[in-house]
Amino acid sequence: MNTFLVDTHTHIYVPKFDEDRDAMIQRAIDSNVQHFFLPNIDRPSIPQMLELEAAYPERCHAMMGLHPCSVDGDYMKTLALMEKWFEKRSFCAVGEIGLDYYWDKTHIKEQKEAFRIQSRWAKELDIPIVIHARDSLDDLIQLVGEEKTDNFRGVFHCFGGSLEQAQKIIDLGFLMGIGGVLTFKKAGLDAVVKDIDLKHLVLETDSPYLTPHPYRGKRNESAYIKIIAERLAKVKGISLEEVAKATTANAFELFGIKTPAS
Ligand SMILES: [Zn+2]
Repeated sequence: MNTFLVDTHTHIYVPKFDEDRDAMIQRAIDSNVQHFFLPNIDRPSIPQMLELEAAYPERCHAMMGLHPCSVDGDYMKTLALMEKWFEKRSFCAVGEIGLDYYWDKTHIKEQKEAFRIQSRWAKELDIPIVIHARDSLDDLIQLVGEEKTDNFRGVFHCFGGSLEQAQKIIDLGFLMGIGGVLTFKKAGLDAVVKDIDLKHLVLETDSPYLTPHPYRGKRNESAYIKIIAERLAKVKGISLEEVAKATTANAFELFGIKTPAS
């Protein structure tokens, strides 16, 4: 295979990888996963993420944003700090941002406000957003529609919706991130993804979460992108190379990576 894979959503900077981070990254590279897009979570994750990016500047691409599960009563202060980061340097995306109704519904109003504020940063900076949706996909499709402008773009990470929801996302000009859930027998995502054109898809692990079969239950890592790509190729009845070529091109275009190292 003369083309390569990328992991568009991976938190490999978190302490869970402190013991073996370099070996884990080498395993990914050996599995032909050549680039890692790093969504931020909260304040403490920023130095961890930037440290990893500094260690692998050709391969790791940092984002900046506040995860909906970290939106609390103090979120405006955190957003002010993050806004300062965008003045200091460039990031490949605003992320990850969104709505999470699964873990805690206390701050739904604040989550929505944080999403709108951060979406406007992305439009001003002309960079994409990376969206986290948990039990909130319809609300987010609506919010993105309300915020829509010509340069508003991004990816619905860990897409697990219906074909109807996928079509709405496509109509908004957004992409969908496909991860380990595609390998879960009961999820039914294969039946939906089968009918979505490759040009709307990128691959992700969401490491250390959502580990694909047959490693489910263990720590996830970016090397497993290959398992997801193989599954997608099988679901669509196409070659692994075709999947790699299209999803990597989609990711580079979305995140504005011009001269990729391979
Ligand atoms: Zn994430």
